[in-house]
Amino acid sequence: MFALVLAGLPSAAIAQTTAISAPPAAPAAQSTELPPTRADILRGEYGRYRANNDLLFYHLDVRVDPARKSISGSNEVRFRMLSDDTRIQLDLHPSLNVDRILSEGAPLKYARELSAVYIDFPARLRAGETYTIDVHYSGMPLEQGRFGSMAFRTDSAGRPWITTACEEEGASTWWPNKDQWRDEPDGMQISVAVPDGLMDVSNGKFVGSTKLGDGYTRWDWLVQYPINSYGVALNIGAYAHFSDRLGDLPLDFYVLPENLARAKPQFAQAKPMLEIFERYFGEYPFAKDGYKLIEVPYLGMEHQSAVAYGNKFANGYLGRDFTGVGISLQFDFIIIHESAHEWFGNAVSAADASDMWIHEGFATYLEGLYVEQRFGREASINYINGEKPRVRNQAPVVTQRGIHREPTQDQYFKGALFLHTLRSVVNDDAKWEKLLRDFYQRFKYRSILTEDVVQFFNAQLGQDLTPIFNQYLRRPAIPVLELKFQDEGTLAYRWKADERDFAMPVRAGAPGALQILEPTTDWKTMRSPAAKDVFVVATDLYYIDVRRLE
Ligand SMILES: [Zn+2]
Repeated sequence: MFALVLAGLPSAAIAQTTAISAPPAAPAAQSTELPPTRADILRGEYGRYRANNDLLFYHLDVRVDPARKSISGSNEVRFRMLSDDTRIQLDLHPSLNVDRILSEGAPLKYARELSAVYIDFPARLRAGETYTIDVHYSGMPLEQGRFGSMAFRTDSAGRPWITTACEEEGASTWWPNKDQWRDEPDGMQISVAVPDGLMDVSNGKFVGSTKLGDGYTRWDWLVQYPINSYGVALNIGAYAHFSDRLGDLPLDFYVLPENLARAKPQFAQAKPMLEIFERYFGEYPFAKDGYKLIEVPYLGMEHQSAVAYGNKFANGYLGRDFTGVGISLQFDFIIIHESAHEWFGNAVSAADASDMWIHEGFATYLEGLYVEQRFGREASINYINGEKPRVRNQAPVVTQRGIHREPTQDQYFKGALFLHTLRSVVNDDAKWEKLLRDFYQRFKYRSILTEDVVQFFNAQLGQDLTPIFNQYLRRPAIPVLELKFQDEGTLAYRWKADERDFAMPVRAGAPGALQILEPTTDWKTMRSPAAKDVFVVATDLYYIDVRRLE
């Protein structure tokens, strides 16, 4: 998703000044946030009753009543036990009723605590065996969060327009599932009955619609890939549909009928965008499911193969140049950013919200790659550097695990600036592109942690970049290059960083003739390649601060 806060950010310089005064081996800054609540732990912890099973398949089969603002139906959950046990944990928001939970037609006992639903089996489930249960539920979902979780709206003609977007609040706000990030089902069927005259667009391949004869029509969708719980979506409306193809890949677009004329030229941006990301990373990750772009009444969300779009058919971010360097208005931010999540977020997923920069840092960096392909490397450098004023550097990008604590907004811009910096460290564009592609290919359809990213990059590059990853992702401050021009043309230089072993090459020297310095956190000296007043550092290629000592 994208949660840009446009006002009220303190300047990055304030945080950086603090960093300079910190000793080089300072202990890691701890989160200043509040301790986790019981609800946070139930949501975020991958405890025994989640870890004892592996999701295989969901069939979510629901009926949505716009007049009552209610949902009812069931989720058939198929899973394989990983260890012997008699209990598993699913999740469902307390505002919704569990009507019954069945195993082969027989009711199971269950206990609820806040959003957790503990399901007890009369006989011990065996490791390696596969089981199926049906969780029947009903109720009126509580509209909550920035995008509503599940929101019952109407369009300008007064017709029902019902959408879901629940990344922060959790998918269990509107359907029962194993609501965490580590485990995904290998596929899913989504069946949604809505009043005749409306349609539901969900994730996956459209299977068909069936008139039920009671004033409702059921719309069936089949997801043929692993899917994270927050990526599952309903989009119910009186949609108009148009389509296109990119080779064998079906592209389907759903908008309100009155917006058809505006949508057609705007959504033409989807095809070249997909071509650019395919060029970098390989085939669109969900080829069998197709690519869809669906109009919604909120800004946007990366729902897998069913990208939610609410950017008002305008370029930029709701028509604004949010990086302030004149490039954002050249493309539709939501089409590019949310679709980038198909590769990073949906195909390669974070296993815990703590590591969500794997979604947002990469998706934001992919915007830069898109800009590079369309407008050139110089424009891309400007675009990424335009994000610097939005970084706060007040808390580490990677947060505490197991409590579903999302990182700050730095996960977007600092995450992208970090990858931009890493590219300069690699200092070989062909090698960098291969590294990104191999990284994606290695981890697609998997849920990973930052440690997996570090390990992969270290192994591929044959060097230990862990202190660089740690400084940017696990410490609040960015590194500061300290320079001291001494007598007789000698330059002393070092990194001021929290990581004692931080060592990162950086380009600096005389304008037009930059060379690579290899500072560490210990002082080094060299004959200065340029006089003090003309010496420059390539701060457009590295996200760093430079401090000249008198
Ligand atoms: Zn995003």
